[in-house]
Amino acid sequence: MKTTLDLPASQPGLRASPLALSSIHTHTLFCDGRDNIEEMCRAAFEKGLCAVGFSAHAPVEKAGLKTDWHLKEERLSEYAEEVGRAKARWQGRLSVFLGLELDYIRGLRCARDADIQAFAPDYIISSVHYLIPPKGEPFTIDGPAWELEKGLTQGFGGDSEALAGAYWDAVIEMAGLGGFDIVGHLDLIKKHSGFMPGKAAVLKIDREGAFYTGRAQEAARAIAAAGLIVEVNTGGMNRGHFNEPCPSPAILRLLREHGAKVLLSADAHKAGDIDGHYEQGLSAIADAGFAGHILPGEADGKLLWREQFF
Ligand SMILES: [Zn+2]
Ligand SMILES: [Zn+2]
Repeated sequence: MKTTLDLPASQPGLRASPLALSSIHTHTLFCDGRDNIEEMCRAAFEKGLCAVGFSAHAPVEKAGLKTDWHLKEERLSEYAEEVGRAKARWQGRLSVFLGLELDYIRGLRCARDADIQAFAPDYIISSVHYLIPPKGEPFTIDGPAWELEKGLTQGFGGDSEALAGAYWDAVIEMAGLGGFDIVGHLDLIKKHSGFMPGKAAVLKIDREGAFYTGRAQEAARAIAAAGLIVEVNTGGMNRGHFNEPCPSPAILRLLREHGAKVLLSADAHKAGDIDGHYEQGLSAIADAGFAGHILPGEADGKLLWREQFF
């Protein structure tokens, strides 16, 4: 597991044709996915992907939270063993990696936590799903609209900008703390901001305004300075929440300007979504001016990030 990105300089030899693709943000029956590890591997292989990785929602019992969508702490070793068996079964045909999607929850959970570092997966995606408001309990920004509405009203006195600001604060803190590889679905806070036709506008924010883009710019700077990879996550498109990946095209441009690297992912919760909306995700990456994207490779049985140029 690397905390900084140290890539070799551009080499024409790294170019590959056709473009290699991976899917390392995936969920299975171990957390809130619908299919098992073998079904996800088979789907990745059939789609011609070079690698699949498993990123179960890391346990949050230690943070005092009870949910039905995280891996249970007592199943961590079973999860690692099962991914290890898949790794052996698919050797030579498909690279299989063990990962986690870890919640960054201010003061409660981060990638530096001893249990996560001891588990030592091949990679960690760190995501902000939870916010801790000035008043009240932590709540998720990724749940149904009513949940965000409750958090906004009770926790932030209805101040949308304060809530969005707390999201960007959390992302910037998370990047500063490090201990992980990939920033998960950056810009997820847009989920209930009403930019999708027919979807609830709980959060009253102007995604193109100075406040939102200014905070996103701060985050882009912090992420690039920490050498973290940012995933371009098509999961919201696969589930019908968004018509663009996370982060948005405008934030992708900011990330490119600051020198961050990006990795395409599907946040697949079922085998059929293993490469869902990848064409649109790749277009977003290319349109933002990136020269390539990051892929997980293997060297001496260890994960090694490499950049593939378009
Ligand atoms: Zn997530
Ligand atoms: Zn996920």
